[in-house]
Amino acid sequence: MLDADFFHRWMTRTAASVDREAAHLTELDSAIGDADHGSNLQRGFTAVSAALDKEPPQTPGAVLMLAGRQLISTVGGASGPLYGTLLRRTGKELGDAPTVTVEELARALGAGVAAVAQLGGAQAGDKTMLDALLPAAEALGTSFEAARDAARAGALATVPMQARKGRASYLGERSIGHQDPGATSAALLIAALAATDG
Ligand code: ADP
Ligand code: MG
Ligand code: MG
Repeated sequence: MLDADFFHRWMTRTAASVDREAAHLTELDSAIGDADHGSNLQRGFTAVSAALDKEPPQTPGAVLMLAGRQLISTVGGASGPLYGTLLRRTGKELGDAPTVTVEELARALGAGVAAVAQLGGAQAGDKTMLDALLPAAEALGTSFEAARDAARAGALATVPMQARKGRASYLGERSIGHQDPGATSAALLIAALAATDG
């Protein structure tokens, strides 16, 4: 069973991973966007960590809803509302249970990912964070490791895609041949989940 502390540590680990990879995420965004994805998420997850440490929420759902709110209020770019919606919606689906199972998390994450698709109007193959999140949510029904591997493979699979949503879509065919920054950070989020000790 996964408790509030597990979700807190998942978010802390994501913040550390985003810190470590910020330059790489920004470099990916400089090729097909506006070179701010690393700094956007660094600002956002630093705020998430600080808010969770200041007043640790008591349930898994409350941890993710607070994290989502922080991302929405601190990240200016497209990724803030999208990741914020992902975490808020996933947290809302978990309700106020003190602990949740991996199966419950998998179902909730599926709803969170669907909310991202609805908000941004993107679907699989549009070269966005969804190309990592959709396969990850699906594979989470099997295991954390399967979800981590599916997210990573999904991020790599964005390289030959042409972007149809977000800033990268302005480049048309010139977006082909570059890995999507948001799909790359989504893989970090899921890798952090898999690396968090239950
Ligand atoms: P901005 O593009 O506003 O500078 P970021 O650089 O932080 O924001 O985030 C860019 C990432 O957001 C993209 O790589 C892509 O994965 C994701 N993204 C952009 N638009 C959408 C959308 N409509 N649906 C899903 N993801 C999107
Ligand atoms: Mg950007
Ligand atoms: Mg921007």
